[in-house]
Amino acid sequence: MTTETKATEADPRELAAIEEASIALDQAEPEEILRWAIDRYGEGLTLACSFGGISGMVLMDMVQNLAPSTEVFYLDTDYLFPETYEMVDTAKAKWVGANIVGYRTDVSTEEQARIHGANLWERDPDLCCEIRKVEPNRRALDGKAAWISGLRRDQSTDRGSTPAVQWDAKFGLVKVNPLINWDEKKVWAYIFKHSVPYNPLHDRGYPSIGCTNCTKPVKPGDDPRSGRWSGMDKDECGLHTAP
Ligand code: SF4
Repeated sequence: MTTETKATEADPRELAAIEEASIALDQAEPEEILRWAIDRYGEGLTLACSFGGISGMVLMDMVQNLAPSTEVFYLDTDYLFPETYEMVDTAKAKWVGANIVGYRTDVSTEEQARIHGANLWERDPDLCCEIRKVEPNRRALDGKAAWISGLRRDQSTDRGSTPAVQWDAKFGLVKVNPLINWDEKKVWAYIFKHSVPYNPLHDRGYPSIGCTNCTKPVKPGDDPRSGRWSGMDKDECGLHTAP
């Protein structure tokens, strides 16, 4: 196993390796993509798991099977559902010794309200996400060579062409997307087959779970992500958008 160091900007040789891997792994199964990333980046690899979505829980289970010392991080926005915080405890109990780390902003909710006014998410959700998600995400990735995301091609038009491996210019490291070829049905099938715990809000009409302020339940058959930032011109938190 080799451990690559993080480049502050895209190294041409690394870009070439990413391009080659992305083509070779384009139709690969998640475990194959994960294995490639573990072999290449070793301890320089970290998994983003929100403990809200089912994709993250599947990746958590796979990573625990393949390389259990891999860091798993979540972003504590201070506005997560109680069920999501409980999922962190559930995961720690199931995967004893798992390297689960929470990252949160230094800006308290009170301080944010004092500086930017109450309910910032209603007026400027991009700024709120920048403070409570993007900045902590940057710290979580600092010093890492690559991160694993739960992005799937079936989730939205924008995500339809997501590669297996890519250079993440926003955060300055490699991003690995093992679930690109799976749809929601396959993810649920894995969850039930392997008895992977999942956020109970999924059974209460929340197919996509973020902060309490910006997540609503959706009706059966509706776009699963339509409950996120409902009524606003926003459908991404900024972690997976170009700089
Ligand atoms: S999802 Fe909403 S409350 Fe959470 S950080 Fe983004 S704007 Fe703020």
